[in-house]
Amino acid sequence: MKIIVCAKQVPDTNEVKIDPVKGTLIRDGVPSILNPDDANALEAALTMKDSYPGTTVSVISMGPPQASIMLYECLAMGADQAYLLSSPAFGGADTCATSTTIAAGIRKLGGFDIIFAGRQAIDGDTAQVGPQVAQRLGIPVVTYVSKVRELGDGYIIVERQLEDGYEVIKVKTPCMLTAVKELNEPRYMNVGRIIDACEKKESVTVWNENDIGLRPESCGLKASPTQVLRSFTPAPKGKGEMLTGTVTEMSSALVQKLREKHVL
Ligand SMILES: Cc1cc2nc3c(=O)[nH]c(=O)nc-3n(C[C@H](O)[C@H](O)[C@H](O)COP(=O)(O)OP(=O)(O)OC[C@H]3O[C@@H](n4cnc5c(N)ncnc54)[C@H](O)[C@@H]3O)c2cc1C
Repeated sequence: MKIIVCAKQVPDTNEVKIDPVKGTLIRDGVPSILNPDDANALEAALTMKDSYPGTTVSVISMGPPQASIMLYECLAMGADQAYLLSSPAFGGADTCATSTTIAAGIRKLGGFDIIFAGRQAIDGDTAQVGPQVAQRLGIPVVTYVSKVRELGDGYIIVERQLEDGYEVIKVKTPCMLTAVKELNEPRYMNVGRIIDACEKKESVTVWNENDIGLRPESCGLKASPTQVLRSFTPAPKGKGEMLTGTVTEMSSALVQKLREKHVL
């Protein structure tokens, strides 16, 4: 079985700060990590590899050269191959251009049975890239996968997390599954594999747009229909006020306050 995992390097923070002048993310001084949901995606792939001998796990990422550090960590966790799609032509990509590039990289890798992605990246936060890659490759996608129930010949049965329960979905392979944190507990890197990964620097393969058959105008900012007009951190809201008393007293006070604010 061939499994591909989409992994993104992200700033190690849930509170992304935005430069108020440039409107871009402030990355200085923020360490980078493997996106948390992608660690669950990789763990799911490695668990399948443990259970099905002959399975290979390839990790693919689009990002700057320093994203290779995160890919070495994936190799140290147990991935067999790692691919970094990196080029100045990929800069400024929105989710549309990102998924075009990742799908082109996956096509170059050849056939696959399952692609795992995270549900969402903690910096961009759109949860669009996994489904978009699936769309471009013409394969079914199940998002919010919280459990793998059964892997059969040409199908997989998974649980898909909902707000108040879960759906059980049987999907044909090849398919895309996007992972949530409830799927598993990601393993630590293996010491022996850390040394292997450090010594074999060539184990992360780097591809640019020519390598994956894309013209420069089909990737990055030039292929990004999204236009960001302004990015900003919302100002904190004023302190809330709790009303007390009987239901009648509280509802009268509420109506009074809404009148004062000309809402009613
Ligand atoms: C106009 C514009 C310009 C931008 N310019 C830049 C820029 O120059 N540099 C930059 O870093 N960001 C840039 N971004 C942000 C970038 O578009 C998104 O971070 C990226 O498209 C992924 O979207 P997301 O973070 O919401 O991922 P999500 O859709 O939330 O991610 C879901 C899953 O998809 C997979 N995935 C997502 N991104 C990648 C990736 N790069 N490689 C492998 N797997 C991935 C992961 O498995 C992830 O868990 C820009 C955005 C816009 C709108």
